Amino acid sequence: MLIAGGTVMDQGGSRRADVLVKGEVVAEVGEGRALRAPAGADVLDASGCLVAPGLVDVHAHLREPGAEEAESIETGARAAALGGYTAVVAMPNTSPPADSAAVVRQVLQLAKGACCDVRPAGTITLGREGRVLSPMAELAALGVTLFTDDGTGVQDPGLMRRAMEYVSVLGGVIADHCEDASLVGAGVVNEGAMSSALGLPGRPAVAEEVMVLRDLALARLTGARLHLLHLSAAASVAAVRAAKAAGAQVSAEATPHHLALTQDWLASYSTAFKVNPPLRTSADLMALREGVADGTIDVIATDHAPHPPEAKDTSMCEAAPGMVGLETALAVALTVLLDPPGLLDPPGLLDPPGFLEPPGSLHPGSSLVRGPQASEGQWTGLPLERLLAAMSWVPAKIAGLSGLHGGPVAPGAPANLCVVDPARKWVVRPEKLASRSHNTPFAGQELTGKVRHTLLAGEPVVVGEEAQR
Ligand SMILES: [Zn+2]
Repeated sequence: MLIAGGTVMDQGGSRRADVLVKGEVVAEVGEGRALRAPAGADVLDASGCLVAPGLVDVHAHLREPGAEEAESIETGARAAALGGYTAVVAMPNTSPPADSAAVVRQVLQLAKGACCDVRPAGTITLGREGRVLSPMAELAALGVTLFTDDGTGVQDPGLMRRAMEYVSVLGGVIADHCEDASLVGAGVVNEGAMSSALGLPGRPAVAEEVMVLRDLALARLTGARLHLLHLSAAASVAAVRAAKAAGAQVSAEATPHHLALTQDWLASYSTAFKVNPPLRTSADLMALREGVADGTIDVIATDHAPHPPEAKDTSMCEAAPGMVGLETALAVALTVLLDPPGLLDPPGLLDPPGFLEPPGSLHPGSSLVRGPQASEGQWTGLPLERLLAAMSWVPAKIAGLSGLHGGPVAPGAPANLCVVDPARKWVVRPEKLASRSHNTPFAGQELTGKVRHTLLAGEPVVVGEEAQR
């Protein structure tokens, strides 16, 4: 198979090159010259496109086993492939949770033949109850590298310390959902002006910050590798920046929704914008972007959280938190994070259709989805290579998948690739998503950038924006 006419971009930089794939690997990269397709070879058109290592998501909820009405490994992996992912770490808060070898084996079995490489994470504690450690060594023996109780944080510091000690011995990573339950209380939106205006219980930023600080200290004590999931607050970013400056072995992630949206979107009262940790202020959003730009935040991960309609079509307090993200993550990142000129559209297009007009100061101005640069003049944009690093080779390394995923695009390397048209504009239609659930906060938004083809171990699983399996 020949991928013709594109620009290869990986950790080695970018160059105009055709890519020849034979079997499961890249056979040849024709830098600056056209390669001839061997007789009988298929040709994938990559003109105007980037040819990059497949994306890697360290944070996706695929819901199987136990909540197949929301998603299955098959449908989630298909959504991932359409979003350019070739590998996804499946969060363990399934039902039953992945706190035993049996469930991890089940996930691995279900993942066979899926559109992308699905790697189960294991829980830190049995049943994610925060009381007794799960059999981490048994899970690690099955290939689990990330351990997390994601959905909730481990509240007991003594237990977290022991978890870190075990994980260090096993060579794994603690993937940390940082929220202190006693500070979170019954909060459903960011605590502050918005929670007051809406009359809803608040979920304060400090609930995240205190657990980030606690676990940075515990990681320093134990030497454990710590990955901080879905950071949402400016103070957390500052804490990670300081810890890294002091030499901490920590990585951090932000989600596309926290990088694109603020609490102002909640003024619509739409539960599509309810998520944990919650959308926060434009100052928090800017701090997250600056964190991605200076490397304090290493990874952009989806926190893909599918929910069936009945879980969202209810009051803000009762609605399930979370949003789907696998099919929109790259496009959202390309739309809001790149150097703005050339990617900005007329703002009028961006108001989500069908929304109530929120009161004056709460108006979810289109500058918030595009980025505050329009109003605040601070955001100068990310280089494209930094964005791809945060979505491909850096998360591949954190998940222990380097060499298999995340490139480089070079002869002999596994052909796990995505071909992205960075200029293609499209409108998010929830009903068209391949995910079994359609709870996207980007419904009706025009985004710039779409995955044209995805190759998994040399197999074209997405061709011309259509899934092949
Ligand atoms: Zn979480």
